[in-house]
Amino acid sequence: MHRRFLDKFVCHKCEGSYQFGPVVSEDNATHEIIEGELICTSCGAVVPIIRRLPRFVPSESYASSFGFQWSRFACFRVGWIEDHITLYHEVLLR
Ligand SMILES: [Zn+2]
Repeated sequence: MHRRFLDKFVCHKCEGSYQFGPVVSEDNATHEIIEGELICTSCGAVVPIIRRLPRFVPSESYASSFGFQWSRFACFRVGWIEDHITLYHEVLLR
């Protein structure tokens, strides 16, 4: 997560602002936080940053959420792939 994006997020519990908590690892070239935490300055809610992304949804909820999405929108996946192949050929290869 780039440090400059900090003010783009508000706390999911109280809409307070976040500050960076402990930074476990950071990319020195891009100044992206790879592993660390966001902490709400109002209520103290903690959001882990894992593999460069703040994780606002508990990890156990990701699988069920994506499972629902994949089963609900399964018919759109083929078209999505074709659209991206078309985009690649028509725009990026010119
Ligand atoms: Zn909060």
